[in-house]
Amino acid sequence: MEFCSSCGKRMVLRRTKDGSVFVCPACNCKKTTDSSAVKKVAPKKPREKIVVIGKEDQDLKTNPTAKIKCPKCENNLAYTWQVQTRSGDEGATQFFRCTKCNHTFRLYT
Ligand SMILES: [Zn+2]
Ligand SMILES: [Zn+2]
Repeated sequence: MEFCSSCGKRMVLRRTKDGSVFVCPACNCKKTTDSSAVKKVAPKKPREKIVVIGKEDQDLKTNPTAKIKCPKCENNLAYTWQVQTRSGDEGATQFFRCTKCNHTFRLYT
């Protein structure tokens, strides 16, 4: 952030062909920026892999079941499992899959 040296107002960053300048909106005076600092681009981070949260393709027959009402068919039994969120500090997410209609839903714990 730059402030105008003559009137003290906050200057606005403008991009030009030659680089960036700070322009005072009040008195129009300009101040060039350190172009090396402006042009510095942060290295791109590799994309994080998307965490698979469901178990859609897995056989859940071995999973424990829980007595919970399916929001879709109102069956009262669902297979359940927990998935730890990526950050690890948000706790686990409890997933359920209805034993009757295979609808998958979840609860946040
Ligand atoms: Zn000014
Ligand atoms: Zn159901």
